[in-house]
Amino acid sequence: MEMTLTTIIATGLGLAVGSFLNVVIYRLPIMAKRNALKNALPHIKELHKEVNVDPNFDLSKPFNLNVPRSACPICNHQITTIENVPVLSWLVLTGKCSGCKSPISTRYPFVELVNAMAWGAIAIIYYNQTYLLILNCLLASTFICIMATKIDRQEVHNFLIFQFLTLSALQLVYILSQSAFVEKIMGIG
Ligand SMILES: [Zn+2]
Repeated sequence: MEMTLTTIIATGLGLAVGSFLNVVIYRLPIMAKRNALKNALPHIKELHKEVNVDPNFDLSKPFNLNVPRSACPICNHQITTIENVPVLSWLVLTGKCSGCKSPISTRYPFVELVNAMAWGAIAIIYYNQTYLLILNCLLASTFICIMATKIDRQEVHNFLIFQFLTLSALQLVYILSQSAFVEKIMGIG
């Protein structure tokens, strides 16, 4: 098909799909809220239970990625710097809290190892392309966070999805900028 005809058809289809996008944009949030509403009661009951026993839900104290310091959830022993060395500390402590000897989840060394292997593999592929190297490492780590929080809580923080999409978009822009696509648009090709 010649370029003019293809462009006209694509623009027409784009118009029709754009109209459908308006339905998606308007209805998806409402569908999500309806769903949340439907699932709210059992969730709130569970939250109530957690709030009563877990100090992490004490709203009078700050809780973010920075504070409070990591601590054993059983005996509240604060994790020291030496106990916080990836994988090694877990091995040295034989997977037990140094305070109360309760088991520390294999999740911690597992996530550290998977992330290390992912970054290593990406470095093998992109060792001479710094931009793609950094981008793909961040993408891999974001993906690990998304999968782990999904497995843990059956839900994913919007920030992680936003970050994943942004990084994917940056990747796409880069790939397109490297391909003949842009040259064609610019009329160079
Ligand atoms: Zn402990």
